[in-house]
Amino acid sequence: MNRIQLFKPVYRVEECLDGIRECLQKGWTGLGYKTIEFEEQWKQYTGLPHAHYVNSATSGLHLAIKILKEKNGWNDGDEVISTPLTFISTNHSILYEHLNVVFADVDQYLCLDPGDVEKKITDRTRAVVFVGLGGNTGQYKRIVELCSKYGLSLILDAAHMAGTRLDGAIPGHEADAVVYSFQAVKNLPTADSGMICLRDPELDFLCRKLSWLGIDKDTYSRSQGNYKWMYEIKDVGYKYHGNSIMAAIGLVQLKYLDEDNAYRRKIAGWYDACFAQAGDKVKPVPVADGCLSSRHLYVIEVEHREEMLEHLNRVGIYPGVHYRDNTEYDIFAASANTCPNSGRLSHSIISLPLHLEMTQQDVETVASEIMNFS
Ligand SMILES: *Cc1c(COP(=O)(O)O)cnc(C)c1O
Repeated sequence: MNRIQLFKPVYRVEECLDGIRECLQKGWTGLGYKTIEFEEQWKQYTGLPHAHYVNSATSGLHLAIKILKEKNGWNDGDEVISTPLTFISTNHSILYEHLNVVFADVDQYLCLDPGDVEKKITDRTRAVVFVGLGGNTGQYKRIVELCSKYGLSLILDAAHMAGTRLDGAIPGHEADAVVYSFQAVKNLPTADSGMICLRDPELDFLCRKLSWLGIDKDTYSRSQGNYKWMYEIKDVGYKYHGNSIMAAIGLVQLKYLDEDNAYRRKIAGWYDACFAQAGDKVKPVPVADGCLSSRHLYVIEVEHREEMLEHLNRVGIYPGVHYRDNTEYDIFAASANTCPNSGRLSHSIISLPLHLEMTQQDVETVASEIMNFS
């Protein structure tokens, strides 16, 4: 049986190996060298003013929350509004800093619903974390407006959004922090790594320091010669920075990101065409107006989700679900049933196979299995 998987990372193997070989021959695999080159290229690609390469988006999200908390003087127990329909690391990053996650519901794009976000704002709200689910920008612009109206910080979890454009530009210039993931199954796969893009140069500097155990690299770079060990430590930091081997892979993959995403949109278009006749039985999640989606995911809403998943597995098709409503997890039990749309959607959505080795024939096979079953 021809198996069709949800994701399959595709690497330009020879080019990646060339980059890795350069690191090995130079004897430089760690922080610096390729990590700096990748940061420079990412700034150029996105137009964002700063970029710091880290070992995962989870680390980047934690740093974003930590730095904004410190800079703005937030207290433990202050509130951050977030989505329940996300990978758990979005919300873990808020808990790491002893802040309260307040869940707002999602809209038809599976992204934060601005109307519900506004209702959840209290005098302890400090920030909103927006996840562009599947590469969709949803109602991001309205979230930007709300944050500016209420004086809230904005963090864009762009783990799915590498390459997404909104009205022709990379979104994120309005956010305090934008965090990308280059984990193995994301649109720009390395093995594990991510990028944090902070708007404020001071925060970018602080972030670089904290991602390497608080080591002040300015002092470090000044004390050349015999005094390389003579750096100052003023903050408790983390081991969160990226390395040159991962960056070497990232630099190659970045060259192909737009081309790869264009193919992903083609796959999405084939699915759309197949489901155009499906009526109410199969409802693809719409892409927001003005959004050129990275198409990390192609999500449909169906009536008998569990039976559908079982059927697809039986015929060798392995879709996914993004995500289980986070308020169903024990750690968020106190927020259970606060987001009805998310609760309902979480039990009716399926992410269909979408990767660069899929053919139009594969898409038609998946779609016809779904329509025959509906
Ligand atoms: C994958 C993902 C993350 C975490 O990315 P890592 O690089 O694996 O830490 C965060 N948020 C969302 C929405 C994700 O899908």
